[in-house]
Amino acid sequence: MIESRNPYTGEIIDKFKELNKKEIDEKIALADSRFKSWRKTSFKERSSLLLKAAQELKDNKEEYARDISLEMGKPITQAIAEIEKCAWVCEYYAENAQNHLSDKSIKTDAVKSFVSYEPIGVVLAVMPWNYPFWQVFRFAAPALMAGNIGVLKHASNVMRSANNIQKVFERTGFPEGCFQNMVIGSSKIENIIRDPRIKAVTLTGSKPAGAAVASTAGEEIKKSVLELGGSNALVVFKDANISESVKTCVQARFQNTGQSCIAGKRLILHESIADEFTEEFVRQVRELKSGDPLDKDTFIGTLARVDLAEDLEEQINESVKKGAKILLGGKRDGAYLEPTVLDKVTPEMSMFNEETFGPAIGITTFKKDSEAVDLVNRSKFGLGVSIFTEDREFAESLVPQFEDGAVFVNELVKSDPRLPFGGTKISGYGRELSEDGINEFVNKKTVYFN
Ligand code: NDP
Repeated sequence: MIESRNPYTGEIIDKFKELNKKEIDEKIALADSRFKSWRKTSFKERSSLLLKAAQELKDNKEEYARDISLEMGKPITQAIAEIEKCAWVCEYYAENAQNHLSDKSIKTDAVKSFVSYEPIGVVLAVMPWNYPFWQVFRFAAPALMAGNIGVLKHASNVMRSANNIQKVFERTGFPEGCFQNMVIGSSKIENIIRDPRIKAVTLTGSKPAGAAVASTAGEEIKKSVLELGGSNALVVFKDANISESVKTCVQARFQNTGQSCIAGKRLILHESIADEFTEEFVRQVRELKSGDPLDKDTFIGTLARVDLAEDLEEQINESVKKGAKILLGGKRDGAYLEPTVLDKVTPEMSMFNEETFGPAIGITTFKKDSEAVDLVNRSKFGLGVSIFTEDREFAESLVPQFEDGAVFVNELVKSDPRLPFGGTKISGYGRELSEDGINEFVNKKTVYFN
């Protein structure tokens, strides 16, 4: 059995029977046979179904959000916002996919030559618990619009949400098998990737999970996209607007109780503004309201599982042993960890050189601007960086110096259906969202007429 446990109360709230070999095979067979008809549907048909899915999400956002909060401790208002964002990505692809995937004419010696973008078949999505709906919808919306079929292996602690996602597609009239959840643990994934009916895999999660999935996909010569988390820096230069940047940095680190791959995890401050910034930052973090994830005014919930809170506590303790100073928080109670701010963090500490997945942040200072760039690039992750400065020309000169997949100026790194999303280094490869995202799982077929 796979269990869902409410991390706020510690209670088991649901149990799911894991699929056996035969049941997995039946699901893949259904997906494979559905592909044969789904690939022939028009963009208009797909788009009308996806718009219905968007409406279903909007109409029942409280119902879906409540299960997210119960399963992984996300504050309810943030869970509702997550559902609304899923509706947005459905609407975005419903409106734009046909344009993204229309034939591209290319002038050559041929009478006519062009690229056509065709679906590839059944794509397996291995997804994490931190945004149980959003991570799945940002894969599913472009996949279905491209004419592909989705099968989901969701994180074991959010299987109720995983079933709810399948329900969204069933309730809105998608043909049976277009999108199926498989209640399975991760040990079943290898065989599924090796199944010839599975054409590609996308994974969002940790590096070990990504490496395991990509190795198997590599052996089978199947395409993979990996989105593996990050350790984004928030760099505040001496001319930054302090009050605006403090507000943005607090959001960047503490929304979703810090459990986001693109959260700002390393606060890198110019030494001339460090004291003023830190004082205001700590003041605002102290005001964040912790509490029951189902309360509308809670901003900090629990972490999704007790072991995840323990891991973060360990990273804090290790950094303190090496000389970091706790300015706020630092204590854990079950899956809850107090919002924590550490000063005097150096690149040798785990608060700097590992991904920290929760409500804790380390402060590091710099003197020269080039030092700030070096500190940003010193991470093995490369998802994104936020820089804060009032000097636009200076900001533009910095952009090419960062090794990350995204640079945001005076803004937190955030995903937007219209913009590509993905990382460099051990943050993974490939892109999700936008035209780049829908292009990952299509056959770009070269056609040449003479
Ligand atoms: P995992 O990477 O273990 O889980 C993510 C998904 O991968 C789940 O569906 C999981 O299934 C599956 N999985 C795990 N191991 C394997 C494997 N060997 N082969 C195939 N699939 C696998 O994340 P955790 O829950 O353990 O979180 C650990 C850390 O990962 C976090 O602290 C954070 O640093 C990072 N992370 C990053 C995320 C991001 O957004 N990029 C999201 C979540 C975590 P199952 O649940 O059954 O194990």
